[in-house]
Amino acid sequence: MRTSKTLTLLGTLFTFLACASAAEKSPSYSKADLNAAGKLRERALVDESAYQLISSLTTEVGTRPAGSAGDKAAVSWGLREMQRLGFANVRSMQVTVPHWVRGEAELAVVSPWPQSMPTLALGGSVGTPAEGIEAEAVMVKDLEALKALPAGAVKDRIVFFSNRMERTRDGSGYGRAVTIRVAGPSAAAALGALGVVIRSIGTSDERIAHTGALRYSADAPRIPALAVSNPDADVLVRQFESGKSVRVRIRSSSRDLAPATSANVIGEIPGTDRGSEIVILGAHLDSWDPGVGAIDDGAGVAIMMTVAKLINEVGQKPRRTIRVVLFANEEFGTSGSTAYVDLLRGEADRHVLGFEADFGAGPVWRLSSRVNPAQLPAVDQIFRALGPLKLVRGDNEARGGADLDGLGKLGMPILEPGLDGTSYFDVHHTVNDTLAKVDPASLRQAVAAFATAVWLGAQYPGNWERVEGPNPPRR
Ligand SMILES: [Zn+2]
Repeated sequence: MRTSKTLTLLGTLFTFLACASAAEKSPSYSKADLNAAGKLRERALVDESAYQLISSLTTEVGTRPAGSAGDKAAVSWGLREMQRLGFANVRSMQVTVPHWVRGEAELAVVSPWPQSMPTLALGGSVGTPAEGIEAEAVMVKDLEALKALPAGAVKDRIVFFSNRMERTRDGSGYGRAVTIRVAGPSAAAALGALGVVIRSIGTSDERIAHTGALRYSADAPRIPALAVSNPDADVLVRQFESGKSVRVRIRSSSRDLAPATSANVIGEIPGTDRGSEIVILGAHLDSWDPGVGAIDDGAGVAIMMTVAKLINEVGQKPRRTIRVVLFANEEFGTSGSTAYVDLLRGEADRHVLGFEADFGAGPVWRLSSRVNPAQLPAVDQIFRALGPLKLVRGDNEARGGADLDGLGKLGMPILEPGLDGTSYFDVHHTVNDTLAKVDPASLRQAVAAFATAVWLGAQYPGNWERVEGPNPPRR
């Protein structure tokens, strides 16, 4: 007991000394850089550009799933808007993307109490035969419950996953629930099921379904999978709880077309004395098709483009190059960011710091990071510069979004101004993802937080050293 206490004390002392020496080694920002950060923050809080960009994208392009005509139009839109905003080295990087089309979908309870329910196919789902599939349904909460069923329990049946996603500020509720959407269809198919219906991975209490990608595994038949809204899932649960047998009919004309060509859209604010080092700002240009992708990820696109625009106008050139990348097809397989990392070759180490915005239109409530511990004092300084925006100091386990995964694995540090996800999953991947759900003041606050952190990231007087180890788990 005593020994362990002494060891703990020694450990604490050691950590303290290590931190103190890291703080000594970590140089401080110049007054000029901190003043410019303040100026950027204040300008961002009154700048309407981000809202205008989402308005333009959703009005002139609209829905833009991978491979669609909207996807192509979005690439042209991105190139045009980056030119208009005065970015340098504006270019596209061709990417091959899968091309899945939704078609129509229907879901009806046949018995005990017949009724039809609005439904959406999960992204990537195969369709049903033209006449649909009618079968007895089996309700399970989640994948664990499915696996616990006796052998043969779901053979020739339709499996209904009833689990409800939990509302959280940091998105961790989504992380815990989304496995059902991604892996549920193949897990049910492997046990002989004919189709899958899931309670939407979303928090809306409206009668709208949330789509999103599934991932078929190679060793199970591909069976159709649909999502229903939370209130309709509740109806299904009550029908099952009656103890009567529940029969449902599903029909979907979803199908795959030949792969298509899309592109990452790239533009830069060139740096000066450290211009060969890149601070990458990532967001994704594609959207799911039911809505127009104002929140996911028009907001991220607009935040990043506005941050670069504001820095370009601040009157002081950034030291490091700020590169905005609007990635192709994040939603259905992260084709754009995968191609970006593949084409980097030896250039990965030039990406010294990454930011990603793919979690709605703000506000930002927290600053997290995943930096080399030697640069934590720099993150503390950035956090202090964000003071007027009243953020919470997060941990050093940030992961960014899906599009930074590849660069993160290669050791790129990440700074994460955390977007508030409390109501994000009310509209995520639904017909309600429209401009009406964007609050202009929250969006301006998010731009202010990102602009401050990006600017100071680009001006840091020390080196952003590489990080080691695997990416932290998704929250
Ligand atoms: Zn997204």
